[in-house]
Amino acid sequence: MRTIYLGLLLIISVLGAVGVSQPGPLIIAIDAGHGGDDTGGIGIDTVTEKDIVLQIAHLIAIESVNFPTIKILLTRRDDRYLSPGERLANAHGAQVFLSLHLDFSYDPRVRGITVIVPKGAGNPTRALADALRARVTKAAKTPDLGTRTAPLWLRRLAIPAVQLNLGFVTNPEEARKLSQLAYQQRLAQAILEGIEEFF
Ligand SMILES: [Zn+2]
Repeated sequence: MRTIYLGLLLIISVLGAVGVSQPGPLIIAIDAGHGGDDTGGIGIDTVTEKDIVLQIAHLIAIESVNFPTIKILLTRRDDRYLSPGERLANAHGAQVFLSLHLDFSYDPRVRGITVIVPKGAGNPTRALADALRARVTKAAKTPDLGTRTAPLWLRRLAIPAVQLNLGFVTNPEEARKLSQLAYQQRLAQAILEGIEEFF
């Protein structure tokens, strides 16, 4: 009996030491790009980037009730301009930062999804980018335009942080789909699945 008790005590203390005794939810910051006077891209039928990405951010928060391991923080909840510093402050405590944007092209034929990682991004960030891209392009049935590197302000974050460009407001088909609730919900669901897979 005493041996079992000591054994249990040892297991509990080992689990405690490695921090797996009480795993909390993963905190994910969802950052809807632009806002207020900063509209982002305006495309076909005045589909406006700041509105679509805000809508998708809210849908991610709503759908996340079906993902008990994930807790969502929204950096922007309404139509207002926020500086990068304010976005970071609103993401306080997050383990992953995901910025949502749409794309713009002078060629209306261009469509598809791109993930952008900050310059000098490490392996966790690239793995997150791959997991999200795979899930989201499959759900959206749109071309996978790959992962790009850019000097994003997200490089200031010490956690995996990527920018997800969810389609082109300048492509008629994609602009139409992006304004539909069912399509936005599909994207939200795929983003949550990508985050879950990453972990
Ligand atoms: Zn944007």
